[in-house]
Amino acid sequence: MHYQLDEAIAHIEAAQRPVSFSGSGLSAESGIPTFRGQDGLWKNYRAEELATNEAFQRDPALVWEWYEMRLRSCRHCEPNAGHRALAGWEGAVHITQNVDNLLERAGAETVHHLHGELCLLRCVGCGRERYEYEELASLPPRCLACGELERPGVVWFGEPLPHAVWMEAEKAARACDLMLVVGTSGAVWPAAGLVPLAAQTGAVVIEVNPEPSEVSSACTISLRGTAADLLAEVLLSG
Ligand code: NAD
Repeated sequence: MHYQLDEAIAHIEAAQRPVSFSGSGLSAESGIPTFRGQDGLWKNYRAEELATNEAFQRDPALVWEWYEMRLRSCRHCEPNAGHRALAGWEGAVHITQNVDNLLERAGAETVHHLHGELCLLRCVGCGRERYEYEELASLPPRCLACGELERPGVVWFGEPLPHAVWMEAEKAARACDLMLVVGTSGAVWPAAGLVPLAAQTGAVVIEVNPEPSEVSSACTISLRGTAADLLAEVLLSG
C-alpha cells in the first residue's frame, strides 16, 4: 500500500490534465448515506424504487418527502477533507455523480453534474427551473409561475443524462492524462463508462475506495481507504 501510495502521488504530481470522477462515497464521511451502503434504506424503500419517474407519477408526495429528507441532510452536512482536497487540486476538472453540491461548497470551480443537483427544482409543466436552498414551504412543491408540480432537478433511473453535461464529461475523460476515481461503485451507467474510456485513451486511473468496485479492473492503481483520509494524503502531500 505504501508503495502504491508513493506511485499514486508521483502520477498525480506529474499530471497535466487531471480529472476527478466521484460518487456518493466521497460524501459518506460528511454524513450523507450512499445508496448501496447499510444506511441506503428509507422507510423500507430502496433508492431505486423512489428515484424514478414512475414513483413520482404514482405518489409525488412520498417521493418529495424522501427528497426533502435528503435536502435537509445536505443542508446540515459540511464538505469533508476529501471534498476540500479535490477542490484545491489545481487545474482539475471535476465530474461527479453526486447531487449534494458539497464539492462547490468546498470551493471547486469546474464541476460537471452528471446526475443533476438536489437543490434544483424543475416544473413538470412549463419546465421553469429554480434553486431552493431553504426548507420547502409545502410538499410537494408547485411552480411559482404556472402552479404545476415541481420535480427534483436530478436524473432518475431510466432517464438520459443531460446532453451538454455528458458531452463535456466525455470530452474531459478522453482528454485527461490522469483520472482519480473516488467513492463510486461503478454500477450506474453510462456514468461508470467514463472510467474505462479514460483508461483506453491512455490516462493513468487511480481509484480511492475502501472496497473493490465494478470499475477497479480498469484502474491502474486502487488505493483502499476512505476519501477523506486518502485524498488529503495523495493531493496535499506535495
Ligand atoms: P454507490 O452507493 O453505488 O457506491 C458508493 C461507493 O462508495 C461504494 O463503492 C463504497 O465502497 C464507496 N465508499 C463508501 N464509503 C466511502 C468513503 N468513506 N470513501 C470512499 N469511498 C467510499 O454510489 P455511486 O457509485 O455514486 O452511484 C449511485 C448513485 O447514487 C449516483 O447516481 C449518485 O447520484 C447517487 N447518490 C448521490 C449521493 C450524494 O450526492 N451524496 C448520495 C447517495 C446517492
